[in-house]
Amino acid sequence: MATVTNLDVKRLEAFSAAFSGAIIVPGHDRYEESRKVHNGLIDKRPALIARCGGTADVVEAIAFARESGSEISVRGGGHSVAGQAVTDGGLMIDLAEMKGIHVDAAAQIVRAQGGVTWGELNRETALHGLATTGGVVSTTGIAGLTLGGGLGWLNGVYGLAVDNLLSVELVTAAAEVLNVTDETDRDLFWALRGGGGNFGVATWFEYRLHPLKEVFGGVIAHPFDAARDVLRAFRDLSQPDELWVVAGLVHAPDGSGVKMAAFVVCHVGTRRRTTCSPRGTASGRPRT
Ligand SMILES: Cc1cc2nc3c(=O)[nH]c(=O)nc-3n(C[C@H](O)[C@H](O)[C@H](O)COP(=O)(O)OP(=O)(O)OC[C@H]3O[C@@H](n4cnc5c(N)ncnc54)[C@H](O)[C@@H]3O)c2cc1C
Repeated sequence: MATVTNLDVKRLEAFSAAFSGAIIVPGHDRYEESRKVHNGLIDKRPALIARCGGTADVVEAIAFARESGSEISVRGGGHSVAGQAVTDGGLMIDLAEMKGIHVDAAAQIVRAQGGVTWGELNRETALHGLATTGGVVSTTGIAGLTLGGGLGWLNGVYGLAVDNLLSVELVTAAAEVLNVTDETDRDLFWALRGGGGNFGVATWFEYRLHPLKEVFGGVIAHPFDAARDVLRAFRDLSQPDELWVVAGLVHAPDGSGVKMAAFVVCHVGTRRRTTCSPRGTASGRPRT
């Protein structure tokens, strides 16, 4: 793999001149913070981090990487546990500052850039009493989560994140900008809906929204010693579509370090009595 350090200085100067965001190299005061991702065990050192300001910067960065033969990594929200957003010795295309979000409340559609997190997107759509399926943790990036399929609190009612995806603006490896929908390129759109970050850099995402004014949820904590029973109950639980429950062995959120076995629960929809029954549907009938 060629690294960015092999580049001739003139090409790097031309890239810097054409680029509107920050170009961060080792030794830059933002280098250490910019190469960090959610998983603190990841310790990769890109030769160059291109903090893009918009789609045109992504185009420049890809063209530059092609000319230099550099490996590219792409960072959306930085939540990949394997640390795929960061490259050792290559060019990291960092979308963390691409935070544009536009809600069309009348059409029930939101458009958001590739550096947006689910917390940021939810905050804007909630102003209009609208929502779409995102991840269970607010700091996860919309980009990586959506390109991987996207499970979340609302998926029982509204499907996965990709079920609500209407279009993707994509910069390809040839540095072309495409607006990909089911109509413009059915195969590529299919691939983007779960195929991960292998088909280009996704700079904008467009999602269908749904009216949602309130949810009912929270954490039900049990002593760690009850973990076996808690996990057995979770295994045997059958949930109606409106209810999403995750179970986990976690630390208390107050920072005390106390270990707990917990259910985290979210109910979407009208307030009414719903029953969770073991090994069956909400009504007690076995699933077919
Ligand atoms: C705390 C935590 C909670 C999670 N919760 C959920 C959950 O509720 N539901 C769920 O489905 N998943 C969940 N995940 C998994 C998560 O969706 C994936 O790790 C996802 O890839 C993270 O996306 P990101 O943009 O934050 O990560 P990044 O590390 O930035 O990117 C992940 C991958 O996507 C690629 N990528 C990122 N942005 C782009 C882009 N714009 N264009 C092209 N490729 C790109 C990267 O190159 C990398 O390969 C969770 C992960 C963590 C760490």
